[in-house]
Amino acid sequence: MNLGLTHSKIYFQEWKFILATIVNNYNHFVTSPWLVVKKLWNNNVFNDDTYNYQAASSKIKKFLKSSKKGINKNNVTCIDYFNGDLNLLLARLRKSNLERINYSSVLRINKKGLKTLDKIMSLKTPNPGKIFIVHDFPKPYDSVMPWDLMFASSKDHKEYGIKEGIYLHIYRQFPLFWEFLLLHEYVHHAIRSNMKKTKATGYKWIEEGLADWFALNAHYKLFRDWDFLVFVKNMYYIYEKVFPRSPLAEYAQYGKVITRIYLQGGHQAVGNILKAYLLNPDSKKWNDLYKDVINEKKSSYDQYRPLHLKTNFDRFLITLHEKADTINVPTLEYKILKILQRKHNHINKNYGLSQVKASVGDIKKAISNLMNLGFIIDHQKKYILNDSTIYLLRSNSIRPI
Ligand SMILES: [Zn+2]
Repeated sequence: MNLGLTHSKIYFQEWKFILATIVNNYNHFVTSPWLVVKKLWNNNVFNDDTYNYQAASSKIKKFLKSSKKGINKNNVTCIDYFNGDLNLLLARLRKSNLERINYSSVLRINKKGLKTLDKIMSLKTPNPGKIFIVHDFPKPYDSVMPWDLMFASSKDHKEYGIKEGIYLHIYRQFPLFWEFLLLHEYVHHAIRSNMKKTKATGYKWIEEGLADWFALNAHYKLFRDWDFLVFVKNMYYIYEKVFPRSPLAEYAQYGKVITRIYLQGGHQAVGNILKAYLLNPDSKKWNDLYKDVINEKKSSYDQYRPLHLKTNFDRFLITLHEKADTINVPTLEYKILKILQRKHNHINKNYGLSQVKASVGDIKKAISNLMNLGFIIDHQKKYILNDSTIYLLRSNSIRPI
């Protein structure tokens, strides 16, 4: 296969590098990895084009300094836990070994990726063209595409004169995740070049869902990397929690629909859906299928035999639907949250917390920490639980230490 690699190095974007490090150390945080992500994101801590350890660690140290102000030494608060988590992040960044992107893995995916996908999808897909590593995407996608990579089809070639192939943006790469995204783009290419109707619009949910589904399958076949599957799962989880309106959160949802279909009917069910979709991509039945699966009405996909979970990959899929994440907060903060929950999610500032057994100073501190971490909102004469906190309390995802 012909490669158009024109640069000797691909860079990781600072924010994505930090995010990947947090996700890679998912179980080591005391508060919660997604809370750390949310705080860093909301405060715009990481925004440089490319990751550099020195710059990133000095930003974290500065952030730590600013959040340490006014801490009561006799009273451990959730800010202390949070700061502990930032120190952990610093330590992990120092030892981070996420730098897996290199030519050999690009070559490997380019060489074997499509072959593996064709095997899983029972398709014969033409060569997708070169891989280009570019400083910017070709026009007209240069200003509109915030993506890490894009695929230019023969249609793009005809319309805009863009050479067919995969374009990797040199400054936007995502440690570990990029390999999965590259395979994801290959699935799009495979679907589009095997579709009978070239002018079909198709359904976004099914194409993105299948792209993620087959990419994850192919990645596991290529690398047998269990940790990577967990990495993708946790990355999606964080996106759904912190950036619920982002495309990745949306794709996570689509991927789960395909997973449910698989768990119901195995490879055969997903394979049949792919085959039917290639023949009839604009049929209204794809809309109905989505609704049926979401509403757990199995009528349109339960015609297949139930699946016996045999492989590690199958077992992984079961855990994809778990919601195991919890946030630990100190007892005083927890009590305050529970009082708010009992009082229909809001209390009067002046007397709402009179029943809490703690000093006025400690309660004040606890309230300010809860606001600082986004659990509650200060609104005129009231403290109000924010929507995500209500959900977390309802699902018992917040626990006292
Ligand atoms: Zn896609």
